[in-house]
Order: sequence, then C-alpha cells, then structure tokens
Amino acid sequence: MAPPGIRTILFTANQIRDRVGELACEIDKDHRPDEPVQVVAVLKGSFVFVADLIRAMRTPLTLDFIAIASYSAGTTSPGEIQLLKDLDSKIEGRPVLIVEDIVDTGHTLHYLHNILGARAPKSLRTACLLTKPSRRAVTAPIDYAGFEIEDRFVVGYGLDYREQFRQLPYIGILDELTEPLR
Ligand code: 5GP
Repeated sequence: MAPPGIRTILFTANQIRDRVGELACEIDKDHRPDEPVQVVAVLKGSFVFVADLIRAMRTPLTLDFIAIASYSAGTTSPGEIQLLKDLDSKIEGRPVLIVEDIVDTGHTLHYLHNILGARAPKSLRTACLLTKPSRRAVTAPIDYAGFEIEDRFVVGYGLDYREQFRQLPYIGILDELTEPLR
C-alpha cells in the first residue's frame, strides 16, 4: 500500500533495480573496459539513481557532480538554466556519461550537452531514469532511458516535491499538490 501523500506507485523498488541493472549492462557494452568513463551526475535528483547505476556497472569510472537550477514559466523565461556548481574535473578527451533523473522539456539536458560538449570530451552520452516524451520542447539526446512515462509529476528514488520524498525507494505520483508546478 502506498504511504500517505502518494496516490499511485508507478515503479516499485524491484522494478527499478531490475531496470537499472539492464541500463548498466547497455552502458558497459558501449564503453571500453580499460578506459575510465567520467560519470557526471546532475544534482540533486539523480543522486540515488547514480549510486545504484555505478554499482551495477563494470566499466571503470570516475564520478563528478554538476548542479543546475532551471526556471519554469512564471518566474523567468521557460528553459532558462543557471549553473550552480561546475565539475571539479576536466573532461577533455574523456568518455563522459551524463546521469539525469528525469528528462521533461529537455532544456536541462540540452544545456548540459552544449556546455559539456564544448569541452571536447572523447564521447558524450546520457542516461536518464525517466523520460516524458510528450513534454519535450527541445531536442535532448538520450542514449539510455529507464522508463518512459506520461505527463505526471513523480517523486521518490531521489526525485522531490519541495525537497520531500527523495528517500522513497519507489517512484510514485502524489495525491495532490499544494502549489502549482509550472
Ligand atoms: P527539463 O529541463 O527536462 O524540463 O527538466 C528537468 C528537471 O525538472 C529534472 O531534472 C527534475 O529536476 C525536474 N522535473 C521534471 N519533471 C519532474 C517530475 O515529474 N518530478 C520531479 N520531482 N521533478 C521533475
């Protein structure tokens, strides 16, 4: 049974674990076993996903974090992105894997591809746990996607609503939202 506040459980912890394992296998197939991939986790939402994903991967890797803030319509122009924390490491000549929690309009991923692509990595791929294709506003290249979902606001497994629900081991839809999202 879902806890108070959660209307529907979309993906259980077991379903997520299985799918993350499959994604890790796909990623391993596309990367060399003798060249560490630079994993770039996008804070904060991807922190649970990346922790599970890297432990399921066999490819050697290094891990870094990048933090961005995106502003939706109503505050500033839609799709406006601000870089809050840049990488600590150089990615020039390295295979790079961006790890995102969810791709919605695609603005965040589009922005990350532009700024990281400009640093001349050897390759630049993206893994996201969730994608909402019906919401896409800009082209955002995704190489590994966990689950396609409809236009619903989801929480859990790292994803929040006003900083809550990140700790849930599953992904669910909220009962009702106290504030509009967009
Ligand atoms: P995009 O730039 O693709 O529109 O949005 C990406 C970011 O919006 C995600 O990294 C995430 O932080 C947030 N986001 C989009 N959809 C959802 C959702 O359904 N639930 C939560 N918790 N965050 C979302």
